[in-house]
Amino acid sequence: MGYRNIVTNCALDGPSGAGKSTIARAVARRLGYIYVDTGALYRAIGLYVTRRGADTKSPAEVEPLLSEIGLKLEYSDGKQIVLLNGEDVSGLIRTNEISMAASNVSAIPKVREFLLELQRSIAASNNIVMDGRDIGTVILPNANVKIFMTASAEVRAKRRYDELVGKGEDVSYETVLREINQRDYNDTHRDIAPLKKADDAIELDTSDMGIEEVVNRVCEIIIEKTSADSHRKKTLSEVRLFFYGIVRLGVRLAMRTMVSLKYEGCENVPRKGPYIVASNHISWADPVYVSAGIRNISSYMAKESIFKNKLLSVLLRMLNAFPIKRGQSDRDALRTAMKYLNRGYSLTIFPEGTRSKDGKLGKGKSGVAFISHFAKCDVLPVGIKIDKQQGKRTRVTVRYGKPILYKEIRLGSSFSAAELRRSRDLIMSRIGELL
Ligand code: C5P
Repeated sequence: MGYRNIVTNCALDGPSGAGKSTIARAVARRLGYIYVDTGALYRAIGLYVTRRGADTKSPAEVEPLLSEIGLKLEYSDGKQIVLLNGEDVSGLIRTNEISMAASNVSAIPKVREFLLELQRSIAASNNIVMDGRDIGTVILPNANVKIFMTASAEVRAKRRYDELVGKGEDVSYETVLREINQRDYNDTHRDIAPLKKADDAIELDTSDMGIEEVVNRVCEIIIEKTSADSHRKKTLSEVRLFFYGIVRLGVRLAMRTMVSLKYEGCENVPRKGPYIVASNHISWADPVYVSAGIRNISSYMAKESIFKNKLLSVLLRMLNAFPIKRGQSDRDALRTAMKYLNRGYSLTIFPEGTRSKDGKLGKGKSGVAFISHFAKCDVLPVGIKIDKQQGKRTRVTVRYGKPILYKEIRLGSSFSAAELRRSRDLIMSRIGELL
C-alpha cells in the first residue's frame, strides 16, 4: 500500500534489552510523540496468566483466559500506564519472572491476534514511537520509519542486569544473560511473527553507543524520513499553469457576463501550491468564484450527496473534486486531500460544510485545521460577499486574506479536542474578518 501515513509512525523493533524502551521514550519526548511500549501488553497478559496459576507456555490454558482480560494503555505526562482490568500494573509487570511469562505467551498466535487491533488503533491516530518485535513487519507494515535496534547479547545482559539491580532485584549477571539468550531464541524461533528485521528497516547496532548518541541518531532518522515525505510535495508545472490560466481567464470573462465580479487582496494569494483555500459558502458558484482569482489549480472537497448523480460525479471528479462523508472522520477523503496537496494542487474547502442560508458565517468544522496540520500547509482565507441588487446585476466580491501559516494552526502533541477547536476558530475568525 503506497499511501502516505497522515501521522508519523515509527516502528522500533529489536531483541530484548537492546535499549528500545529507553530510546523510544526519550525520542518520543523530544519529538512530542506518544511512546507505545508493546512489550508491556504481553507482560500484562503474562502477569494475568501467572496470577491465575496457568501454564504460560500452554495455548490450551492461556487462550480461554484471554476473554477475561481487558487491557488499556493510558498516558500521563508522557508515561505509559498499563491497565489490566482497570488495575494499574505498570510496576508489577517489570519483574524477571514476568519477562519470561511474557516471552512465553507471546509465542501463542491467539495472544498476538488479541493484541493486534489494540496496537493498530493507537498508531492510526497518533504520532508514535512503538517498540516491540514485530511492529515493522506485522503490526505497522506501512510505518513511515522503521528501525531495527540491536546490541550484543553481553551488552544487553549487562544493561538489563544494572536495571534490575537498580530496582533492588536479587539476580546474577549469568542468570540475566542466560534469560536474554533464551528470550532471543524464543522470539526468533517462534512460528508466528518471529523477531526479524523488516526489509525496509534501518539497522542500528547500539553496542558501542551511549544513550544520548542513540537518541540523537533515531531522531535524525525520523526527521530525515519524514522530511523526505514533505519533499515529495511538488509544485505544478509552469506549462500546466499557463494553460490553466487561459481557461481561468475564459471562465472569468464568462462569469462577468452574468455577475459583476470583483477581486480584492489578490496580492495575498500564494503564487505556488500546495495550500488550502478556506472560504465561506453562500452560492453553488462559490468554487468558481474562488478559483477564478487563483493561479494555482485547485482540488475540492465536497459533500458526498452531490456525487450521487453518476454524470455529475464524473464531471466533478474531472474537476478534481472528491467526496467527504460529513460528521465522521473520513480517512479516504483525508488521504485524497493529502494526495492532491503532495502533488502541488491547492485544496478548496468550505469549512461550514454547507451553504449558509442567511449569509451569516457558521461555526465551521475542524477539517481544515486537521489537514493543514498533517499536510503542513498554510491556509488562504477567503470571504465571498454576494449583493443581489434590484434591477441590476448581482455584485460578487471575493476577498483573499493573508495566509494563515501552518505554524499558527499546528496542533500540539496531545491533539485534543480543545486544540482542534482553537485552530478551527482561528481559521473561521480570519474568514469572518473578510466579510
Ligand atoms: O520488550 P519487553 O522485554 O518488555 O517484552 C517482553 C516480551 O514480550 C518479549 O520477550 C517478547 O517475547 C514479547 N514481545 C513480543 N512482541 C512485541 C513486544 C514484546 O513478542 N511486539
